[in-house]
Amino acid sequence: MDDWRESQEILVMDGRIKVPYTWSAGEVGTTYLEALRDDKRFMGTRCPECGVVYHIPRMHCPDCFAACAEWVELEPQGELVTYTVARKHHPQLSPVEGLFGYGVIKLEGADTGFLHLLGEFAEGELSSGMTVEAVFADEREGSVLDVRYFRPLRGVE
Ligand SMILES: [Zn+2]
Repeated sequence: MDDWRESQEILVMDGRIKVPYTWSAGEVGTTYLEALRDDKRFMGTRCPECGVVYHIPRMHCPDCFAACAEWVELEPQGELVTYTVARKHHPQLSPVEGLFGYGVIKLEGADTGFLHLLGEFAEGELSSGMTVEAVFADEREGSVLDVRYFRPLRGVE
């Protein structure tokens, strides 16, 4: 009898294996997430060499490689640098009800932007350069999703 391993063509299939993993947020990440969770404050770090304020904070400047030991408190609002409006809802990708999007937001006091969700806006309301503000979750657990999303700044209600 023939050995099937010698006579059979070997076909391959592409796939993706998802491996759940848990790791420490690290010294900088933990400080950042605690301020977000406990005080609704955004913190960044400043590079002592080039002066760039990073948000999300970095332990080392990617340009100078200097240690960024200085913490800087940032405003909970900033410039919507760029964005996209999502047209299809998916429960795992869009925790925001209704019209939502993804945007790069540069908080006041920071020199770099970060990606987050956008919500509470009308069709056609968003534009690059506009000011958006953070909407915090009522129950926060030490995650970037302690900020539910950013919305257009509408002033004091
Ligand atoms: Zn630097």
